[in-house]
Amino acid sequence: MTLQYGDPDGHGVHGQLTTGADGGLICHECGAERQFLGRHVREHGMSADQYRERHGLGRATRLVSARLHATLSTKGLERVGSPAWARFEAARDPDAAREEARQALKEPLRPQSVQSWTKEALAAAQGRKKRFCEVPGCGRPHAANGLCRTHRERLKRTGDVQAHIPVRPRKGGPGSKKES
Ligand SMILES: [Zn+2]
Ligand SMILES: [Zn+2]
Repeated sequence: MTLQYGDPDGHGVHGQLTTGADGGLICHECGAERQFLGRHVREHGMSADQYRERHGLGRATRLVSARLHATLSTKGLERVGSPAWARFEAARDPDAAREEARQALKEPLRPQSVQSWTKEALAAAQGRKKRFCEVPGCGRPHAANGLCRTHRERLKRTGDVQAHIPVRPRKGGPGSKKES
């Protein structure tokens, strides 16, 4: 007898994908939760198409979690296989993955930016990690030669970054009072 849509089917429901507690997809075959189910099912000796057919899923059904799909949509499928991807896959549970990314980026975890840390992890893996001004305590975005725009201008103007003078937001522009 053939299963109908909605029938219990292994660890899931025939014709449907189930999302697990961590946002991954539940494998009908073994109940494992995977972000990239289409790849996982190869461990069961079947292709993604065979899996779809066996479990009553439409041919266009994505065997990728919504979270992973959002990431891939922005970064492109060619990222699969990159070091960041490997980390993503290796960290089976998202908390561990986030923790790993947080460590890598050494910045506070922003809970709602799962997608954004993934982007940053990818950028870091590609050596495009965001740079900052190297003057101690500055922290402004890097412009050139390891310095932010202000410190670079100071260096050009005075021959010294004058790290002891705090950078103040430009309000008055030229002619505004100097700090005394
Ligand atoms: Zn499985
Ligand atoms: Zn600076």
